[in-house]
Amino acid sequence: MTDTPVETPVRDVVIIGSGPAGYTAAVYAARASLQPIVFAGSVTAGGALMNTTEVENFPGFPEGVMGPDLMEHMSAQAERFGADIRYEDVASVELAGDVKVITTADGDVERARTVILATGSAYRELGLPDEKRLSGRGVSWCATCDGFFFREQHIVVVGGGDSAMEEATFLTRFASKVTVVHRRGELRASKIMAERAQADPKISFAWYSEIASIQGADKVTSVTLRDVRTGEERELDATGVFVAIGHLPRTELVAGQVDLDEAGYIRVAHPTTETSLPGVFAAGDAVDHLYRQAITAAGTGCSAALDAERYLAALD
Ligand code: FAD
Repeated sequence: MTDTPVETPVRDVVIIGSGPAGYTAAVYAARASLQPIVFAGSVTAGGALMNTTEVENFPGFPEGVMGPDLMEHMSAQAERFGADIRYEDVASVELAGDVKVITTADGDVERARTVILATGSAYRELGLPDEKRLSGRGVSWCATCDGFFFREQHIVVVGGGDSAMEEATFLTRFASKVTVVHRRGELRASKIMAERAQADPKISFAWYSEIASIQGADKVTSVTLRDVRTGEERELDATGVFVAIGHLPRTELVAGQVDLDEAGYIRVAHPTTETSLPGVFAAGDAVDHLYRQAITAAGTGCSAALDAERYLAALD
């Protein structure tokens, strides 16, 4: 007798990603008895909100909610209805056929009639030679994770958007001083976030400036700032550099299979979540470069599950 490889059954829905988009899609798909598998990622499960503290703008929490708590609630809600959450990274996908094939980094293979892509976005890097070398040695992308290490120290935050203002404001809990380095003369952040940061006595701003280099043998000791108008450089003593200059969509997994826009976001047929491939839907920050909010990600996650449900109903 010869052993034939045992193939897993073809599932109705596989969801890739565990931020607000992925978990909301999971809640809807699970409640529709589609028994979704959610590939949550191995180290970054829960998505971008795992890196924040208080979320004040997610409806239903008048007193606010901590980001990690919100994500724990979402995952528990999805599990309650039967979602199968796996803390694994998807390494490759074959999305073109009627049966999609999903392979994890551990080599596990799942097959499904629909796939919901909810892979979010990743932190953008400055691209300086010493940034990687000093990562974890003063250079960070996560104030919540690393702020504690910088008590009574001078921290530089790079960026001018909401993330940068949130990082800077949070870091004042620990730092003696926070300097926000921004290329322009005004902030891109929403008014309320900008005003909060600008009113904080511990935060100062280096306008029209960029980081030219980061110094330090084993740990960051200083940064060199360059005036973007004059090219003039000056050194600033600092032991922490928090990079908050935006995000890149995490779509490399599906590049070459579904259509992406020029910036790498997944194209969908608005107002649906249909991608260029039948049976493949996309939601959240992997699609959205305009709003990038937990609630909008959750909203499109809901739409993706409903779109998948309708697609499956039409097949049956
Ligand atoms: P994400 O939350 O980014 O989740 C994507 C998930 O996909 C991750 O878990 C990742 O691990 C997983 N993934 C990616 N690739 C793979 C793969 N190959 N295999 C398996 N898993 C994979 N929004 C608000 O509304 N209010 C706020 O107060 C707020 N504060 C924020 C503070 C910070 C510091 C940041 C960074 C963002 C904040 N946001 C806030 C924005 C909000 O977090 C995002 O808009 C939202 O999380 C996007 O949800 P998402 O599900 O699309 O993606």
